Amino acid sequence: MDLIILKIGGSVITHKNKTGPAVNFKNLKKITDQLLVLNKKFILIHGAGSFGHQIVKRTGIDKGIKKKKDLVNFAETQRLQNELNLIFTQSLIEKGFPAFPFQASASAIMKNGRMQKMDLDVIKGLLKLNITPVLYGVPAFDNEKGCSILSGDQIAPFLARKLKAEKIVEATDVDGVFTSDPKKDKKAKQIKEINRKNFEEIKKTLKGSRSVDVTGGMLGKVSELIKVAKMGVKGQIIEATKKNNIKKAFLGKKVGTIIRW
Ligand code: ADP
Repeated sequence: MDLIILKIGGSVITHKNKTGPAVNFKNLKKITDQLLVLNKKFILIHGAGSFGHQIVKRTGIDKGIKKKKDLVNFAETQRLQNELNLIFTQSLIEKGFPAFPFQASASAIMKNGRMQKMDLDVIKGLLKLNITPVLYGVPAFDNEKGCSILSGDQIAPFLARKLKAEKIVEATDVDGVFTSDPKKDKKAKQIKEINRKNFEEIKKTLKGSRSVDVTGGMLGKVSELIKVAKMGVKGQIIEATKKNNIKKAFLGKKVGTIIRW
């Protein structure tokens, strides 16, 4: 299908290192402005940032339901993600863009942290109507552990595979994948392409995200994209707020890091 899966990182639309949930409204505006001018069919997914990682780390619900209090934590974590999704979709709807809030955990079934299935008929229908479903990282029902985290980074390749998307674009707060964390190491060099020849070497340098992240950080992101690259779906990790960057990635321009097999 002539379809792109676009994921906007939680590190972009929230202040990820704040102790509580905080939207980054300046970045949110930069993102919505870019999305309004895209002229290809796409599905949007956003991350949780400070709306998700902190509460999950504090309560440990990613490890499953173990005590009574976890039930309330599970529900509250979901509610917080809905709150962020409403803010995100509202910023697009206000500009006349049909951004449809879509809770993956309403039908997703997990098994030990991996999504087994999710109903896609509604998403297909919405795409036919030219409405853009906006999914997001969520805590989801897990038939082994009770609950686990279904990250945006996991939803993207699942949808790409099932809907035979052309590519996945992940927009984050750094200009792609680097030889080390560019936020910590000024000498870090951007990697233009990750492929079957250099992946094993690059894997060693990716030690996850610098901030509170319960879903694997940069290594998690690349590992998920490699899985679908092996099936022929191209991936690209780009800096979200750089002017016209999302448009460039949609047009196939070489920005950020390209992931193919
Ligand atoms: P998002 O919330 O946008 O999905 P993450 O916070 O999970 O993004 O991952 C992006 C972060 O990963 C960057 O802010 C960066 O500091 C960190 N990071 C760690 N290692 C690397 C690396 N080798 N290359 C690029 N970024 C890296």
